[in-house]
Amino acid sequence: MTDIFETLESEVRGYCRSWPAVFERSQGSTMYAEDGKEYLDFFSGAGALNYGHNNPLLLEPLLDYLRSGAVVHSLDMKTPAKRRFLETFQEVILKPRGMDHKVMFPGPTGTNSVEAALKLARKVTGRQHILSFTNAFHGMTLGSLSVTGNSMKRKGAGIPLTNSSKIPYDDYFDGETADFLWLERVLEDSGSGVDKPAAVIVETVQGEGGLNAARLTWLKGLSDLCKKHDILLIVDDVQAGCGRTGTFFSFEDAGFTPDIICLSKSISGFGLPMALTLFRPELDVWEPGEHNGTFRGHNPAFVTGTAALNTYWRDDAFQQQVAARIAQLHDGLERLAATVEGASVRGRGLLAGVFFPDTETAGKIAAAAYEQGLLVETSGPESEVVKLMPALTITAEELERGLGILIEAASTVTG
Ligand code: PMP
Repeated sequence: MTDIFETLESEVRGYCRSWPAVFERSQGSTMYAEDGKEYLDFFSGAGALNYGHNNPLLLEPLLDYLRSGAVVHSLDMKTPAKRRFLETFQEVILKPRGMDHKVMFPGPTGTNSVEAALKLARKVTGRQHILSFTNAFHGMTLGSLSVTGNSMKRKGAGIPLTNSSKIPYDDYFDGETADFLWLERVLEDSGSGVDKPAAVIVETVQGEGGLNAARLTWLKGLSDLCKKHDILLIVDDVQAGCGRTGTFFSFEDAGFTPDIICLSKSISGFGLPMALTLFRPELDVWEPGEHNGTFRGHNPAFVTGTAALNTYWRDDAFQQQVAARIAQLHDGLERLAATVEGASVRGRGLLAGVFFPDTETAGKIAAAAYEQGLLVETSGPESEVVKLMPALTITAEELERGLGILIEAASTVTG
């Protein structure tokens, strides 16, 4: 059937190609299509809905705020909603983790956070070059795209993307470790003509790049190397942050704190656009107006973001519940991987999935799962990984049901 989506919307659309339904309502881990069909959501707005759809604990304060006549849009002016968010973020997230990072609102979405991080690193160091990793994904605007390691995405730029180099991510050589010896050597060889980088930008789990999860020791090694050579370390926690790996920041168990951190997606908690760039206080060399924009600090997003931190991150209870879901998910993924020769579990926490050796398999499984009412994405340079990103608030029953659909889909597709 041809409709306005086909006739008027640009061909650039992605998700609606694999999911033709018109989604009308959503609640928790379920989306409801216009034709009445229900879909269990293992995609969660690409990680923007860690607390589920229309979470009532966030919706109520939002509705109260909107009905109260409080300020909705205020660029970067001071508002009580912004004050409450900053106070809560400091008290609930930064202080307990011994962090004194400054907070910047770089724009509405993930790529804005990355752009600000790259600009700041260059401004602080006076150097231009940025190191990033094979299969990395950092966003679709020119700066973030230049550090993205995906040739399909890069070719949309239309101009050469310069001033960055891709180096091998952990485990790039199939089980062999990509250690930092060669990098160390190059950095120490001042006569080599290699430009010293301003920063290294890394995802702890490559969400779009195939759910490659770096070992925590490798990440710590990277941090040590950056420190030794006075190179800034940026962790892009846009997808892996806000609890997705089981801790609020995905690097928390690795024994280091990055110089600069990018957050977005679930930081508003409700799917409202919001991004943060965090940096060590001594890196705050911005001059007023050097990085501005209309939609920074959207007050409704401050309200739901504050409610999310207060509801879920003040004590350990939520983290324990998430830990139980992580164990359940990984058990299910082992069962899914066991259905196909050569398949293996990828990822960390609730950012995990299964790699299939035949590059067609993951797409076929996702398509079959869609028919059975499950939304699940693929990931990786050849879409060879089935990627699961259920809400952190998903129930054990919903998780089991979705895993059941996937295992059934895998045996239909491969059997
Ligand atoms: N960084 C990472 C790690 C991401 O996964 C994404 C989005 N998938 C981005 C940056 C860009 O975020 P946005 O799409 O909101 O610009």
